Amino acid sequence: MNPSQSTALPGSATLLKVSSLRKHYTVPKRWLAPARPPIQAVDDVSFEVARGETLSLVGESGCGKTTTAKSVMRLIEPTSGSVQLDGEELTTLGAEQMRLRRRDVQIIFQDPYASLSPRLPAGEIVAEPLKNFGMSSARERRERVDWLFGKVGLRPEATRKYPHEFSGGQRQRLGIARALALNPKLIVCDEPVSALDVSVQAQVVNLLMDLQAEFGIAYLFVAHDLAVVRHISHRVAVMYLGRIVEVADRDTLFSAPRHPYTEILLSAVPVPNPRTPSKRMLLQGDPPSPANPPSGCRFHTRCPLAQPVCKTEAPALSPRPSDSPAGHQVACHFR
Ligand code: SF4
Repeated sequence: MNPSQSTALPGSATLLKVSSLRKHYTVPKRWLAPARPPIQAVDDVSFEVARGETLSLVGESGCGKTTTAKSVMRLIEPTSGSVQLDGEELTTLGAEQMRLRRRDVQIIFQDPYASLSPRLPAGEIVAEPLKNFGMSSARERRERVDWLFGKVGLRPEATRKYPHEFSGGQRQRLGIARALALNPKLIVCDEPVSALDVSVQAQVVNLLMDLQAEFGIAYLFVAHDLAVVRHISHRVAVMYLGRIVEVADRDTLFSAPRHPYTEILLSAVPVPNPRTPSKRMLLQGDPPSPANPPSGCRFHTRCPLAQPVCKTEAPALSPRPSDSPAGHQVACHFR
């Protein structure tokens, strides 16, 4: 994609700008075996997130959405490309500068239990980032922790409990309180509700939306559950084999998808009314290997509309003609 083409919500101030991001993993060479090509987990991905906006990254397992999100925070070091937060380039920051910048970008993980120290009481887990970022007064930290527990719907006495004493939903609330502690501008949500029961999922998603409305936090939301994505997102970017193939505002994407892959993905969303006939389309074949992605359009080996040109020319992610709302971009020669 041409980095000058904005994928931000039209008319809104950009907080995060990602341009031509790549993450290629080199595969160790085996003795006497020929060198193996790198795994192109993320390849030439560009997008923007506005202040107070939720941009969701969706796609099937292995499409590169989590790698993209973690590369933005440099939890995974990108191979190349640019990540700018508030106009500051993150990819060239030294370790200490990056640590300081992380107070503006926090993360909520899929498995809250694995991301919380089992040896610390909940109050200390949430107070840790405050201590690391200079809040030296124990009384101030305690007050801030009590306030954060209230904001995420945990009772004050829960500060003394250990992570194993919480339910899954409560543990995710704890993870959210920790992410909120430093007043971040952006929170990367890596499948934050996938491991929770459906009823608890709704509570956590609504909590995230309430916190966004109150504090103006932007979310980069990684998910595979399209019902959740539809509920929480302002815009959605669809990824296939390491690249974004379509980006649009939520309503446009769900009501008038254009890329054949998006159409197939959305056709799998269950219809609530059993009398409505299902329009489910099936994706043919297995996803190709990111170590050897197809030439031209990466989707051509599975696309029902593929033509000869699709095998040789990669379609750019580009705006659609005037019949689409502003900001709708698709990477397809024919849509
Ligand atoms: Fe299908 Fe060709 Fe469009 Fe790719 S460019 S999505 S193969 S029609």
